[in-house]
Amino acid sequence: MAYDFDLYVIGAGSGGVRAARFAAGFGAKVGVAESRYLGGTCVNVGCVPKKLLVYGAHFAEDFEQAAGFGWSLDEAQFDWATLIANKDREINRLNGIYRNLLVNSGVTLHEGHARIVAPHTVEINGEHFSAKHILIATGGWPQIPQIPGAEHAISSNEAFFLKTLPKRVLVVGGGYIAVEFAGIFHGLGASTSLLYRGDLFLRGFDGAVRKHLQEELTKRGMDLQFNADIERIDRQADGSLNVTLKDGRKLETDCVFYATGRRPMLDNLGLENTAVKLDQKGFVEVDELYQTAEPSILAIGDVIGRVQLTPVALAEGMAVARRLFKPEQYRLVDYQMIPTAVFSLPNIGTVGLTEEQAREAGHEVQIFESRFRPMKLTLTECQERTLMKLVVDAKTDKVLGCHMVGPEAGEIVQGLAIALKAGATKRDFDETIGVHPTAAEEFVTMRTPVAG
Ligand code: FAD
Ligand code: NDP
Repeated sequence: MAYDFDLYVIGAGSGGVRAARFAAGFGAKVGVAESRYLGGTCVNVGCVPKKLLVYGAHFAEDFEQAAGFGWSLDEAQFDWATLIANKDREINRLNGIYRNLLVNSGVTLHEGHARIVAPHTVEINGEHFSAKHILIATGGWPQIPQIPGAEHAISSNEAFFLKTLPKRVLVVGGGYIAVEFAGIFHGLGASTSLLYRGDLFLRGFDGAVRKHLQEELTKRGMDLQFNADIERIDRQADGSLNVTLKDGRKLETDCVFYATGRRPMLDNLGLENTAVKLDQKGFVEVDELYQTAEPSILAIGDVIGRVQLTPVALAEGMAVARRLFKPEQYRLVDYQMIPTAVFSLPNIGTVGLTEEQAREAGHEVQIFESRFRPMKLTLTECQERTLMKLVVDAKTDKVLGCHMVGPEAGEIVQGLAIALKAGATKRDFDETIGVHPTAAEEFVTMRTPVAG
């Protein structure tokens, strides 16, 4: 049977654009539907605008520290509206780049909401298109628990477009988004509290990293409240919010920001017209080839709920394009050793196993740790300390994990990820000559284990 398209991709986000462009490059006839914004979450309400706001927030420290180097500045002023307007201009520019990327690679772009009406048919803007393969790359959406007054809370989607910077912000959650946005609001001058339901935020990260970040944020004056959760939110006559916690305490704030995870975006997607199955958490169930239970339908990225990171969605998109249209170049995506950064202030960078995971997996481990005051701060009042940690397999000498909390941790860990992926041993690290004077050189100069 002749189809309109070889591949029809629903969602022009990180994964969808990558799959579409490469499939078209391999000679396939490709259509893409996008209902909201080109480039998806990452470009519009995720990685990119977030990082721009983090840069913005970091200036607060830069101005303070500059005094130690002889600079005197009049009192620094910050204007939220300018930052948001400049951010929006940059995102508009990127939207245009994504449009050109798709169109120039020969992909047909349909702007509108796509709905699957049959295993090989998609409906968009009242038209039907048939495709040999349909790829669901519809991403995710913030999930706010349905407590009384939840309608007064915002998520990351709204935070990027606030008209003014709230004076007081209460951030709920202990994952990536909560920690990053708490840093943004705090850095830009809002009085910021972070509420997390458990004992210590960033569950799943190395214990030393979690503790170190807790100490650093506390030093900076952020109000961290663990074992705390909201029962209800009430709006007051003056517009402020009255928040009642489950333990009965009451807090006053101007903005409650929920960052409590993301659900798959399946709204009105028409999955009931297919055999596609969902997993226990409601994400689209796929096998290792991103194949759903419906033979003609695949899914990648946040909607499958494996690792919700842009570079992972890109790798999955590439894998699908290759497998379908360039099988000789096909390689499975390797989910081991995925490096990641949390752009808190200070940043976290991490790759490989945490100490806890390594021990749980039965490794006999050696732990190397370095804690120091970065050289840049020695002329300043700032008491921030950096943490670097290596988790090493005592038997094979292989480095199982690298973890850092400190300036540019994400930048530093990217290079280390290559070493770990290549199977580097602690001896390889020791024999690598450092770059002096840098913070990163600590990773090749740690000699004495702190724990075994
Ligand atoms: P998305 O990028 O979400 O794209 C899905 C697209 O599908 C969207 O454009 C949506 O409009 C469209 N769509 C949905 N349904 C339909 C439909 N029925 N018809 C047509 N179009 C549809 N990751 C990192 O690696 N680093 C970071 O620093 C980082 N920061 C983040 C910060 C925030 C605040 C958030 C929310 C996420 C962040 N992420 C980060 C995660 C990253 O954004 C996602 O993992 C990534 O965007 C997933 O890509 P995707 O292709 O699966 O989905
Ligand atoms: P996460 O899954 O990272 O964190 C969710 C947090 O909310 C956890 O601390 C969780 O607690 C808590 N939580 C969940 N449900 C509730 C609830 N009902 N009440 C109170 N607290 C709750 O999600 P995020 O929203 O922060 O981010 C989504 C994903 O986006 C991330 O996992 C990451 O993959 C990606 N991302 C990546 C970034 C980066 O690479 N720098 C930046 C931002 C996002 P508990 O731990 O107890 O379950």
